[in-house]
Amino acid sequence: MKSFKNFIGGDWVPPIGGEYFENRNPADLSDTVGRFPLSGAADVDRAVESARRGFEVWRNTPAPARGDVLRKLGDIMVKRKDEIADLMTREMGKPLAETRGDVQEGIDTAYYAASEGRRLFGHTVPSELRNKWAMSFRRPIGVAGIITPFNFPMAIPTWKMFPALLCGNACIFKPAEDVPHTGHVLVEMMLEAGLPPEVIQLVHGLGESAGAAIVNHPLIPVISFTGSTETGRMVGEICGRMHKRLSLEMGGKNAMLVFDDANLDLALDGVLWGAFGTTGQRCTATSRLILQDGIHDELLSRLIDRVRDLKLGDGRKDGTDVGPLISQNSLEKVERYIDIGQQENADLLCGGKRPTGKGLENGYFFEPTIFARVRAGMRLEQEEIFGPVLSVLRFRAADEAFAINNDVKYGLSSSVYTQDVNVAMRAMNELDTGITYINAPTIGAEAHLPFGGVKQTGNGHREGGWEVYEFYSETKVGYLDFSGSLQRAQIDNYLGTPD
Ligand code: NAD
Repeated sequence: MKSFKNFIGGDWVPPIGGEYFENRNPADLSDTVGRFPLSGAADVDRAVESARRGFEVWRNTPAPARGDVLRKLGDIMVKRKDEIADLMTREMGKPLAETRGDVQEGIDTAYYAASEGRRLFGHTVPSELRNKWAMSFRRPIGVAGIITPFNFPMAIPTWKMFPALLCGNACIFKPAEDVPHTGHVLVEMMLEAGLPPEVIQLVHGLGESAGAAIVNHPLIPVISFTGSTETGRMVGEICGRMHKRLSLEMGGKNAMLVFDDANLDLALDGVLWGAFGTTGQRCTATSRLILQDGIHDELLSRLIDRVRDLKLGDGRKDGTDVGPLISQNSLEKVERYIDIGQQENADLLCGGKRPTGKGLENGYFFEPTIFARVRAGMRLEQEEIFGPVLSVLRFRAADEAFAINNDVKYGLSSSVYTQDVNVAMRAMNELDTGITYINAPTIGAEAHLPFGGVKQTGNGHREGGWEVYEFYSETKVGYLDFSGSLQRAQIDNYLGTPD
């Protein structure tokens, strides 16, 4: 079995404790991808020492030159796109079309970051005093701790690390333990693109050991975390106590609202992709379908026909629509919610169990599932399941649908199908989510726009687009007084003439 290493101190090294974990293909547990380091606090200490040296080199590299490294990295990713998609599907399970999209998001993020190297704008503004200039500019922060989830093994690490690096920070990267191979390949490509070795450190391992050591390390001043709201809460408590800068991207319970006047064919395609793409394991997955009375029955019956046709299987095989879940824990969590839905008297219309088909016996497969007659407030309707389970609700008027959408603790994404521009614009204004799609499903973010959610989905920061560069840089202000005399802001009259 192939053994992988950490990348610490400019070299590929084994974990100090000498322990490893196995990474298996969730579609076929007899297929082992390799063994990866089970790192701990001592590995993180070494990574921090090295990253601090890397930071000194990198912060003094001009931002356009930092951008050039990211552009080369984008070029390498373009060349290796299909190969990376294949190894990503092998360890994560989603079909190849989706893992190719995951790599493409990394490529888009690389090219966007490269161009930002020639901007990184500050402001120059008038001073209130004569012969004085006032300006703001950006400085890097230091060593950034990057902790990522399993569901976008390439896109999410690139969303975080490429802007962090462009701003001049060094990174310590801990990929999710379910998808370490993609993380390994990303770091290989970063080095090939010319990133100075000590600027990136790769520390594999579990969240409670390697991840916690990063969060708790006093010399890592900035942490970017994407994962569940429960883990994010623990990370937030520690960072709050330690006065760290922290970006949290967490869970979702996203709804699609379909009005009577909607194009039903479009809505049907949208909900199939939104709810069952990535086996429902997207933070933006559609997990609630809220249907207006007039189209409720028709859309639901057409949806069930289409869901029964979805083909479960190995994501690396042609024709597969839905891959496996990521782990035994995920499978058991989904099964718990099937029980909860039945106890809550929702109608289980299809799915609800593990499939029995040939080729599915060795993986974490679960049938696409629909519950109807779900009511607002049920656990099924309120809690993130992170699997192929869709809850269907009914509404009469827009106010009611908007209230159902908003009455959850999460606020990532929402989607509205209607031909009425007034309803569409009201939805954009009134739905409490970081993203609203009109006539498109809840998934499909683009790399050059800010991404993130409100309420317990996030803590006010955004990934992607122009906003993430604010997160990874400190704003500094410079005043230059060339009047030759003491000028006191707010005290000396700005209309007066200097002596
Ligand atoms: P998770 O919270 O289990 O793990 C995420 C990462 O945190 C992993 O790398 C894990 O090792 C690490 N971790 C776990 N415990 C830790 C600890 N105590 N200290 C430090 N790090 C720790 O999440 P997951 O199962 O990998 O991903 C699924 C979750 O991620 C879902 O809730 C989903 O909604 C969310 N997610 C959110 C977004 C978003 O942008 N809002 C995007 C993707 C996924």
